[in-house]
Amino acid sequence: GKVLVSGCNGFIAVWVVKHLLEEGFSVRGTVRRESSIPHLKDLFSSYGDKFEVVIVPDITKEGAFDEAVKGVDAIEHTASPFHMHADDPQEIIGPAVAGTVGMLRSALEHANGTVKRVVVTSSCSAVLTVDPNHERWYNEKNWNEQSICEVEAKGRNASNVDKYHASKSLAERAAWKFVEENRGAVNFDLVTMNPPYVYGPFLQEVKRPEDLNTSILEFYGSVVKGTKTKEQLTNFSTGWVDVRNVSEAHVLALQKPEAGGERIIVSCSEWVWQDFVSAAHKFDPSLPAGDTSYDPRKAPYTTHFDNAKSKRILGIEYHSIEECTRDLLGQFKRLGWY
Ligand code: NDP
Repeated sequence: GKVLVSGCNGFIAVWVVKHLLEEGFSVRGTVRRESSIPHLKDLFSSYGDKFEVVIVPDITKEGAFDEAVKGVDAIEHTASPFHMHADDPQEIIGPAVAGTVGMLRSALEHANGTVKRVVVTSSCSAVLTVDPNHERWYNEKNWNEQSICEVEAKGRNASNVDKYHASKSLAERAAWKFVEENRGAVNFDLVTMNPPYVYGPFLQEVKRPEDLNTSILEFYGSVVKGTKTKEQLTNFSTGWVDVRNVSEAHVLALQKPEAGGERIIVSCSEWVWQDFVSAAHKFDPSLPAGDTSYDPRKAPYTTHFDNAKSKRILGIEYHSIEECTRDLLGQFKRLGWY
């Protein structure tokens, strides 16, 4: 079958494309700019015409994906802004929501005869409620309403984290609402993938560290450059997952019939920055040691994501923090970035 992957030059999406091709799917990717194409064509040249790229310049335009969806059997919608520097929250909420609903509408109106399933890359941002003072356990029943309320109340003055979290929560909510409202008309089902922070080696084109995607850029700063204070190394606890597990989950979400209609948390484990700093320092003692008084047995984890559904339905076996750190650091080293 043929799968449409939106934003196919992104950190997660390039891995999704790679796994789809390896599993024998044909892929049609979308990018915003012509300049994003050569690197991808080069990377997947051995797949010949099983990999094609089309340009969708503005995903917020009505009917943006009308042509791109034609004839595909499934869709992986990953394109969405992930950055922490929007002034107006609509800068990120707009494309997140309009892109997601627009993709579903295009599928309904122009590919309802062929598309069986749409996978939307959501996030644990759409699940959690930031609550640093309490220990909390989350599963797929939880929704982040808090960030939406914050952005509604504070607008531009809401935190950058809340603006991004709200964009993911609103986009995912809009996706489920779309399939619910069009029940009876849509011939496809929906799956949402909810990863927390995603790390691991990257395949997208990155010429300088400054051009890294948001999550890997923060990893590079925190682990390689030692930019976090002693306090920041242990006071922020959430979930993490290796990008190769995220892409594997996106492909399995198409292959496993039981995934249809499911929201699936794809998270390896709890962490604080010091866990990655320790793993990196062990791998290469020339890297910062961070807080040497840290005792992982007394790790101050406050946020826990239940990954049981991902294991039960998709059968994911998670990469360890050591593997993830080793492979990403190896890549930084080869690039001469430390
Ligand atoms: P990247 O920044 O590497 O990729 C984002 C992709 O979305 C790129 O293709 C980008 O295109 C596209 N995009 C961004 N803004 C727009 C816009 N306004 N209009 C059209 N396309 C746009 O990030 P990731 O791979 O990390 O993120 C991919 C998805 O995964 C997102 O939905 C993100 O929310 C989600 N996610 C990521 C996590 C992480 O830790 N990395 C964690 C949880 C979820 P271009 O290159 O042209 O800018």
